[in-house]
Order: sequence, then structure tokens, then C-alpha cells
Amino acid sequence: MKIAFFDAKEYDIPPFEKYGKERGIDFKFYETKLNEDTVGLAEGFDGVCVFVNDRVNAPVIDRLFGYGVRVIALRCAGYNNVDLKHCFGKIHVVRVPAYSPYAVAEHTMALLLTSVRRIHKAYIRTKDFNFSLNGLTGFDLHGKTVGVIGTGKIGRIFIGICKGFGMRILAYDKFPSAEGVEYVPLERLLAESDIISLHCPLTEETYHMIGREAVDKCKKGVILLNTSRGALIDAEALLEGIKRRKIGAACLDVYEEESDLFFRDFSGHIVEDDVLARLITMPNVIVTSHQAFLTEEALDNIAATTAENLVTFFRGEICENELCYRCGNIETCMKERREKCF
Ligand code: NAD
Repeated sequence: MKIAFFDAKEYDIPPFEKYGKERGIDFKFYETKLNEDTVGLAEGFDGVCVFVNDRVNAPVIDRLFGYGVRVIALRCAGYNNVDLKHCFGKIHVVRVPAYSPYAVAEHTMALLLTSVRRIHKAYIRTKDFNFSLNGLTGFDLHGKTVGVIGTGKIGRIFIGICKGFGMRILAYDKFPSAEGVEYVPLERLLAESDIISLHCPLTEETYHMIGREAVDKCKKGVILLNTSRGALIDAEALLEGIKRRKIGAACLDVYEEESDLFFRDFSGHIVEDDVLARLITMPNVIVTSHQAFLTEEALDNIAATTAENLVTFFRGEICENELCYRCGNIETCMKERREKCF
């Protein structure tokens, strides 16, 4: 089978070549993202493999369908960039629901520790033989309250890590299901948390869940952590909250308008996005460019699961990682309805 692989990075290629060879999949790697301008590159392929910032909207889906592309293999968990409703009845969509929740949860804690212990500042100082400690005072995480929004695979692991630090945990989830966690209404979580970490998916409902109103409800000096999806936070409200000292610090692995910026080198360019540029100038903002997933274990799992998804799909078997527009997950179709929605 021939698969057009979009937004390929040098770290993607070795594991996908390895599993492609093992499973009889011929990946053609394109550096460009999939969008309306580049979709023509998918002509002649059986499937496409895409990542978080490829734009799989209705016009792209129609063109893929016209080329005879039968499957969109997401090599990530989130699928907010794919118009699933428009795919329904045309093209199947498979994803990698979990590749290393530890990678993301550990990165979230790395950002938090960097921020509260000013490691980002200390690193630059000592590189310049400046051994002064002025301005580097942090605070203990022990005894602080962390509010975790979204207690799925990543949220639960992050909770476990925070418990190890002796922190008090408050959680909010639309579908609470974790054991031994104190679930509270969102308003209470916002009001009582010293640190808030987002681990829920981006949906119409969660879009800008941290906006002006939510920021107003937070404790003064709150630290916001977002390793989930950028648009969970209204970036302008975040900037305003930082400027008026309501938000004490922000650690962002994702950004609302990241798709044209992240994963590329803009160091010699003028960045047009004034909100991001201003956020990055702030001493209490740390930005990483959607890096939380990037561990050797996760890259290997992503490639292995994607190859397995493709092989299963093209064998005509039920792929448990297929997304279904109607019920969310093909497994649910099979268990509850004993039939495939698609
Ligand atoms: P998951 O599906 O296991 O958990 C998501 C949780 O969010 C579930 O418990 C669900 O009930 C909850 N939820 C759904 N709607 C909600 C709402 N409206 N309000 C509150 N909670 C709600 O997902 P996961 O594997 O833990 O991943 C979480 C998110 O992390 C993903 O959606 C993805 O966007 C992001 N992610 C980021 C990276 C990265 O590199 N930064 C990597 C992987 C995943």
C-alpha cells in the first residue's frame, strides 16, 4: 500500500521506514503540510498520514476522496484538525489514541518546575558566568493545589506525578472516571488552584474554556499549564491576564495559532503574530513548540500503531483505532450496536 506522509520531520522518518518495511507499507515523505494547496500530492496514494497541524477540512477531504484515497491515518491522538463529519461515508480515519501519555505528563511537570524554580533564567545566567541568585526565588510545589482539567490518560499520569510532589489535587472532567481524585465544579477548581493544567481535548465546548471570564475567576498569581491544545486558552485573554498580574506564569506547549509557526525555524524572520511575540517576551512565560510528545518511546509507538492501523484497515478488518463521526469510536459501534456506523 502507498501512503503519502505529510509534514514529515527528520525524527519521523527512521521509525516509519522501519515499520513500513516490516509491514509492507510504502511511505512517501513530504515536508509540506496537507492543506488545500498541497492535497494534489496525495493523488495516486491509497492513504495519507497526517499530524496535528495538517488541515483536513471539507475541500481537502473531497479532493482526497476524488483521488481514491481511502484512509486518513492520524499519527496523533487529537483529531480537531480533521472534519470527521465530512469524512463520514467517504474516507475512514484512524488515529494513535495513546503513544506515550508519560511523555506529555512528564513534559508538563518539566515546564512547571522550570517556571517555578526559574531554571530557564538560571541556565542563561550561568552560561554567562553570572552566578547571582537575585530574582530566582521560587516556591515549593509541596502543599500547593493543582487543578487538573481532563482526567484521561495524560491527566491521570500528571495527577500521579503531582501526588509524588505532595500536592493537593482538584480535578474537573465532563465525564469523571478516575479513582481517588477529588472532582469539583470548574468554578471551584479555578477559584482554589495555585496551578491549573489542561488535559482535555479541543472541542466546540472546550474552545477558549480559559478566556477572560475564567481568568477573572482564578486565584491571583495562578500558573497556567497547557500541553493539550492551544485554542483551549484565549491567547489574548492570557496576555491581558499576565499584563495585569492576575496570571503569575504560563507554560505553553501549544498555541492557538501554532499551525503556521510551530515545528519550523523562524529565527531569521519577523514573526507576524503579535500576541505570541509579546507572550514570548514575558519573563514568566515559557513556550515549547508542541514538543511534549517528543520522546523516543512515543515516536516508536506512533509509527508502530500507525502501521498496525493501516495494515488492519487494508485487510478489511475492524481497526479499534478508527474514529467514527457518529459514536466517536469504531469499537463503540461494534460493542453497542454490533455494526459499523460507517
Ligand atoms: P483522553 O481522551 O485520554 O482524556 C481526555 C479527557 O478529557 C477525558 O477524561 C474526557 O472525559 C475529558 N473531557 C472531554 N471533554 C471535556 C470537557 N468539555 N471538559 C473537561 N474534560 C473533558 O486524552 P489524553 O490522551 O489524556 O490527551 C489529552 C489531550 O492532550 C488530547 O486531547 C490532546 O489534545 C493533547 N495531547 C497533546 C500532546 C502534545 O504533544 N502536546 C500529545 C498528545 C496529546
